[in-house]
Amino acid sequence: MYPIDALVRDLGEVPSTTDPAIIKRKSRDHFVISPLLRSALSGNLADIVVSPRTKTEVSLSVAAAVRHRIPITPRGGGTANYGQSVPLHGGVLHDMIDYNRVISIGDGVIRAEAGANMAIMDAQARKAGWELRLHPSTIATSTIAGFIAGGSGGLGSAMYGMLRDRGNISALEVMSAEEQPRLIEMTGDDLELVHHAYGANAIITEVAMPLAPAWSWRECIVAFADFASALRFGERLVRETGIVKKVSSVHEWPIPKLMRELRDVVPEGRSMVICLIAQPCFASFQSMVHEFSGDIVADNGTGENPFGAPLFEFVYGHGLRQLQKTNSAYTGLQGMFRGAELFGSIERVRSAVSRDEPMRLEIFWSEGEIVAMGSPLISYRDAAQMAEMVALIQASGGVVANSHATGVHEVGIKRITTRDVDFKREMDPFGLLNPGKLNLDGVKTSTLQTAGWKFRARA
Ligand SMILES: Cc1cc2nc3c(=O)[nH]c(=O)nc-3n(C[C@H](O)[C@H](O)[C@H](O)COP(=O)(O)OP(=O)(O)OC[C@H]3O[C@@H](n4cnc5c(N)ncnc54)[C@H](O)[C@@H]3O)c2cc1C
Repeated sequence: MYPIDALVRDLGEVPSTTDPAIIKRKSRDHFVISPLLRSALSGNLADIVVSPRTKTEVSLSVAAAVRHRIPITPRGGGTANYGQSVPLHGGVLHDMIDYNRVISIGDGVIRAEAGANMAIMDAQARKAGWELRLHPSTIATSTIAGFIAGGSGGLGSAMYGMLRDRGNISALEVMSAEEQPRLIEMTGDDLELVHHAYGANAIITEVAMPLAPAWSWRECIVAFADFASALRFGERLVRETGIVKKVSSVHEWPIPKLMRELRDVVPEGRSMVICLIAQPCFASFQSMVHEFSGDIVADNGTGENPFGAPLFEFVYGHGLRQLQKTNSAYTGLQGMFRGAELFGSIERVRSAVSRDEPMRLEIFWSEGEIVAMGSPLISYRDAAQMAEMVALIQASGGVVANSHATGVHEVGIKRITTRDVDFKREMDPFGLLNPGKLNLDGVKTSTLQTAGWKFRARA
């Protein structure tokens, strides 16, 4: 359908392959985590995988694809969980992982090429006394541009807020999809245009991220007699700004029992909070645990726990992955509860579901406010059951992002304004970037509909 032979001739020295096995592997991300996306997205394949190694090669391959009007889907580590990097209209899978140098570290900022692996960036920053402020639980395989274009926050959000919060990205260099690609350096509120846009309005070529001092981290599990105490503690831990932490993740019993590696760690009937605490704050943390009548049932240095994975691989999307080892039908929703009604709305949801649907929530900052993100654990039956849970959370005072849809509008994490429409047209005049993901008409095609997350409007 597309003139792939002509494209390959124009690519010259830029590596590419049409090997069906590689195309199949690279045309997938982690959408299988969603029962609704599992069947909807399988079968979408690129026609060719192109792997630029330098900015010149990125530019050359983009120019060649645009010249032949072939769609371009950028890909980093391929860990996205909504099918963000699945090519819906074939074409070029633009694999960025060989374009991956760390360019500079200093003055509290790290700058790297788009395909830089986040764990390598963190390790290099630590050698200079710094560490990444924010990273997803998929840090081991994620690229920095994939995180900016596909992610929303994660480890560190309990201290610094979400990626979209001002100050959490320092700068981006992006490339247009034109026959003569242009490079633009973006800062300030303009960063919002590209963040969480799934590479559908620009190709990120370089990323500058703010750093924090490198801490020694203690990985802890705190057990509580009941969910309400665990939730109060988890929220207070985030509010306690002097205690440096990476995560505060609240899991109602029987979730500890349903995570194979933790089932003998947390006593029967008790809910748990998973926390990563900076070593110098540990004594104050212990005092807080005592005040809330909790028990620290696991406490290990980074990389020293006996659970087969760092504790941050038991929270956010990884928490669900751990639970799916026990029952592949488990799923959840990205509900968000905030403000004065945070506890009230969570309790309303809890009182309406059965005790077989225990709550999982991460607590962190967003726009200067504490929020709890998560939902009851759902044993998936059908789309109608999911729609009922969406309705329950929304009626209880929460908002829901659609983690079972693949378009930017449907997912509902990125706010789309007329500036986004203008930017998309300017940077991608032929509509070739990741087509099908950022539909400017706003039409929603997902079988599950949610109202999306709400954020304060910016002028
Ligand atoms: C188990 C699990 C846990 C997760 N935990 C978290 C979490 O804690 N926090 C979080 O935010 N997310 C999380 N995610 C989602 C995902 O892992 C992250 O967002 C991750 O950072 C994506 O990086 P990646 O390199 O794998 O991107 P990819 O999956 O390769 O791509 C993600 C998106 O970015 C686009 N993209 C990639 N490179 C570029 C580029 N150079 N220019 C423009 N667009 C580009 C792709 O087209 C795609 O739309 C999780 C996913 C799973 C499966």
